[in-house]
Amino acid sequence: MTTAQHPTRDGRQFADRHIGPDTDAERRMLETVGYDSVDDLMDAAIPEVIRWTGGLDLPPAATEQEVVAELRALAARNTVAVSMIGLGYSGTHTPAVIRRNVLENPAWYTAYTPYQPEISQGRLEALLNFQTMVTDLTGLATANASMLDEGTAAAEAMTLARRAGKNKSSVYVVDADTLPQTLAVLATRAEPLGIEVRVLDLRTEPLPAEYFGLHLQYPGASGAVRDHTPLVDAAHAAGALVTVAADLLALTLLRPPGEIGADIAAGTTQRFGVPMGFGGPHAGYLAVRAGLERMLPGRLVGVSRDAAGDPAYRLALQTREQHIRREKATSNICTAQVLLAVMASMYAVYHGPAGLRAIAERTHRRTAALAAGLRTLDRVEVVHEAFFDTVLARFPGRAAEVVAEAGRRGINLRLVDADQVGIACDETTTEAHLTTVWAAFGAVAGQAVAPAAPATALPAEIARSSDYLTHPVFRSHHSETAMLRYLRRLADLDYALDRGMIPLGSCTMKLNATTEMEPVSWPEFADVHPFAPADQTAGYRDLVAILEGWLAEVTGYDAVSVQPNAGSQGELAGLLAIRAYHRDRGEGHRDVCLIPSSAHGTNAASAVMAGMRVVVVGCDTDGDVDLADLDRRIEAHRDTLAAIMVTYPSTHGVYEGGIAALCAKVHDAGGQVYVDGANLNALLGYAKPGRFGADVSHLNLHKTFCIPHGGGGPGVGPVAVRAHLAAYLPGDPLGADGAARPAISAARYGSAGILPIPWAYLRLMGPDGLRRATGVAVLAANYVAARLRGHYPVLYAGNKGLVAHECILDLRPLTKATGVSVDDVAKRLVDYGFHAPTMSFPVAGTLMVEPTESEDLAELDRFCDAMIAIRAEIDKVGSGDWPKGDNPLANAPHTAAMVTGDEWPHPYPRSVAGYPTGVDRRAKYWPPVRRIDGAYGDRNLVCACPPPEAFE
Ligand SMILES: *Cc1c(COP(=O)(O)O)cnc(C)c1O
Repeated sequence: MTTAQHPTRDGRQFADRHIGPDTDAERRMLETVGYDSVDDLMDAAIPEVIRWTGGLDLPPAATEQEVVAELRALAARNTVAVSMIGLGYSGTHTPAVIRRNVLENPAWYTAYTPYQPEISQGRLEALLNFQTMVTDLTGLATANASMLDEGTAAAEAMTLARRAGKNKSSVYVVDADTLPQTLAVLATRAEPLGIEVRVLDLRTEPLPAEYFGLHLQYPGASGAVRDHTPLVDAAHAAGALVTVAADLLALTLLRPPGEIGADIAAGTTQRFGVPMGFGGPHAGYLAVRAGLERMLPGRLVGVSRDAAGDPAYRLALQTREQHIRREKATSNICTAQVLLAVMASMYAVYHGPAGLRAIAERTHRRTAALAAGLRTLDRVEVVHEAFFDTVLARFPGRAAEVVAEAGRRGINLRLVDADQVGIACDETTTEAHLTTVWAAFGAVAGQAVAPAAPATALPAEIARSSDYLTHPVFRSHHSETAMLRYLRRLADLDYALDRGMIPLGSCTMKLNATTEMEPVSWPEFADVHPFAPADQTAGYRDLVAILEGWLAEVTGYDAVSVQPNAGSQGELAGLLAIRAYHRDRGEGHRDVCLIPSSAHGTNAASAVMAGMRVVVVGCDTDGDVDLADLDRRIEAHRDTLAAIMVTYPSTHGVYEGGIAALCAKVHDAGGQVYVDGANLNALLGYAKPGRFGADVSHLNLHKTFCIPHGGGGPGVGPVAVRAHLAAYLPGDPLGADGAARPAISAARYGSAGILPIPWAYLRLMGPDGLRRATGVAVLAANYVAARLRGHYPVLYAGNKGLVAHECILDLRPLTKATGVSVDDVAKRLVDYGFHAPTMSFPVAGTLMVEPTESEDLAELDRFCDAMIAIRAEIDKVGSGDWPKGDNPLANAPHTAAMVTGDEWPHPYPRSVAGYPTGVDRRAKYWPPVRRIDGAYGDRNLVCACPPPEAFE
C-alpha cells in the first residue's frame, strides 16, 4: 500500500491516531525533505539489498473495540485461581491509589530513564525510597534501583562475589533449598564464565575446601527458616562472599542478612503490591555491604547538589555501567524495572514500617494456623518447625491427590514430590482458604479437620530487633489523601511523554496508547502465578504464541522467545544460542565476537557474559562499519570467530549499504551474525533482518512495540533466530523443556504481564499501519535533519544524504568555537519545555534525535524552532554579547525560584531565562532543581534518603 492511498484521518483507524502527522502534514514534511511521497523517500533511503517487498503476513488492522474484545477473549481463557504455590511469587493487594496513580498513570509510565536528572527528580526520589527500603530491610549499606527479577539478581550477585572475593576458586556453592528457577538462571549464567555451581544440601553436606561464594535462600524454598550465621561465618573463614536471597516481607520479622554477616542480598520486591503477572514484570533487588558499592551492577540513585547548592538526586557512579565501561562493565543490565520499583517503594511508603510488620505478622499467623490444622490430620506431618509463610506438608504417597483436590476447589498448591506438598500464604490468604486447604487434605485422608489456635513458628533467636524504615517518608503518607498528593507531587516534578516530546535517539519514545495499556491491569493477566497449572493459562500461552509468531513474521526469523526481560537479556540469549551452536558442531573454540566501535554498550558487556572475547571493529569517516578493518579482524581471528554484533540501522542512524556484504564475510569465516534489533522502528515492513543475512536478533518491545519506558523499565527483549539456532532458545526455568535450554529469566515467559501491549499494537496497526509508521518515522527524522542542517551539522547520512529514523547533530564545532557544550544545549532545552535528545551517544559531543512517527508536525516544529533559537543563543555567546560563564545556556536549566529571586545578577533578562521564544506561559514546565553536579555526588556517595533537614 502506498501512502498516497492511505485514508485521510477519519477518526476510525487506530494507525491514524498512533501516527502524529496527518496527510497534509506529511505532504509539507515531504516538501521540506524534497520527496514526492514516503515511498519515494524510502526507496532512496533504504539500500536495495535489504529491501523486503513481500509484505507482512499479519492480520489486517482491527479497531480498538475489536482488539479489546479479542484480548478479553484471551484473558477469559486464563483462570484466576488462588495461588498458594509460593516459590518467590505471592498474592498481594496492590493499593488502588498506587495502581491508578502509578501503574496506570502516564506521568509515571511514559517517563524515560532519568539520565537528565533535573527533570526526573520525582522518580529519582521514588527510587531512592526503593533503595532505602531495601537497605533498611536487608540491613546492608547500599542497594541499587532494581534488578530484572530474583533469578537474575542472584546471578549478578554471583558474578559480583567473583569480582570482589579474595578466594580465586571457580566454585560457587548454592544451598539446595534455593528457588528452582534461581538455580536454573545461576546455571545458565555460570557456565560461559567457567564458574562451577555446586548445589549442596548444607544441612547435611559439608562446604568444600575452596569456593569463592555461597548462596543461601532465606527463608528457604521449602519454607524452612534457618539461622544462617554459622554458614556465613564458615564462608568468610574460607575467604568467600555470601549472598542471601531474602524475602523482604519476612525481614520485617527476621534478623536481616546484613546482621548475620551477609555481603550481598538479592531477591524480589513483587509481594510489595506488584501483581504476579504470570512471572513479571516486577523489581528484583540487589544490596551490598559497605565497601562493595562501587562494584554493584545496575542503576544507583544518589544525592548530589545543584548549582544553587541544594540537594538533588541523580544517577550515581555511572562509570560502572555498560554504556561507559562496555566489556569491562559490572554487568550488561541497562533497562531495569523502574516502574515496578516505584510501585514497591510506594507500597512501603503507604503502609509504613508498622503496616508492613502487621502484614507480615498476619501472613505468618495464617501460616501457623494452617500448620496447626494440618498437624491434627492423620498421617500428615508438617516438616519444618520454623517457617514464615510456607508450610511443607508430608503425606506419604498422597501429595498428588491433595494438589489435585485443592485445584478442584480453586486453590493451587505446590507438588514437591510424591510425598510432599508446599503451601504458601500471603497477605491475600483468608481463613476460608485455610479451610479449603484442610478440606483438600481431609478429603483425601477421609476425615475433617478443625482449625487450631496458631502459635508463632519464628525462632526467637533470629527475631528482628533492629528498626527499619525510620525515615519520615515512610511515616508520613499513610492516609489515602496524603498518598495521593505525594504521588501527584512527585509526578509533577518530572517531564514525561504526557508533557511533550522525548526525542531520544535509539530509544524510540513513541505513543503508548491507552488501549494497549489497559489490559495490563485486568485480573486475568495480572493475577496469574507463573507456575500455575497449564490448564489455567491457556489464554496467556495463546497470546504468547501469537505474538511470537507475529514477531517472527515481521523480522523474517523462524523462531522467537519472549523470555528475555530486557534488550540486554535478549542479547545474552542470542549470544548463548550462537555459542551452543558452535559447540554442538565441534567448534566450541570459536569465542571472538566482533563489535563495531559505535555499538551500544550492552553489546560488549553481553558478549563477555556469554564467554566471548570482544574485538572492536572500527568505523569509517561516514560512520559505517569499516569493511577493510572488518576484513583485517576476520583474517586475524578467522579460526576463532564466533560472531559479529551489529546494530541495524547503525547506532549512527544510517542504513549502511554494506550490511549484506558484512554478513557474507562473517559467514564465510564461519561466524554468526547478530543484528541488534533495537532500531527496528526503521525497518518494520521495509526490511527483515532474518532475510538480509542475520542469524539472530533481539528486539526491544519497550521501544518499537509500545511498551512504555516506565522511567527505566520494564522492558521485554525477545530473541529471534533462524531455524538452525531455534533449538537453543531460552526454555522453562523449571525444566519442562529439557535441561539443554538456557534460563535467561526466572519465569518461562519473562515479563508476560506486559505482553498484551505489543500484542495490541501489532493487532491495531496491521501490516499497512506498521509499514506506514516506519515511513513516517524515517520522514520525521529526515524532516528534523533538513530543518536543522543549516544550524547544526548533521553528522552522518547514508544514501542520497538521508538518515534513517534518527539523526545526529554535531555540536563539536560550536563547542570548540564558543565553549557551549552539549550539556548546555541539553539543559537549555528544558527551559524551552523539552526533554533533551540522547547526549554523546554514539559520538561524544553530539545530540541524537529520534522523533518517531507519533509526534505531530506542530511538536516537531516546536522542537526544531527551539533548537534554532538555541543556535542563535550560542551565537551570542560566540560573539561575546553574553559572557562565557554567565549566559542562558551555562545557567540552564532555570528554576522558578531562580527566575523569581530577589536578585538577578545575570546579563540577560529573566524572561529570556524562564520564558524563551515559543514557550507557552500558561503551560510552562519548571524544573525543580538547577544543574546538578554529578561528580560531587560520586565523591560524596549518599544513596539513601537524606534527612529532611537537608532540604531546609
Ligand atoms: C536500548 C538498546 C539496547 C539495550 O536494551 P535494554 O532493554 O536497555 O537492555 C541495546 N542496543 C541498542 C542499540 C539499544 O538502543
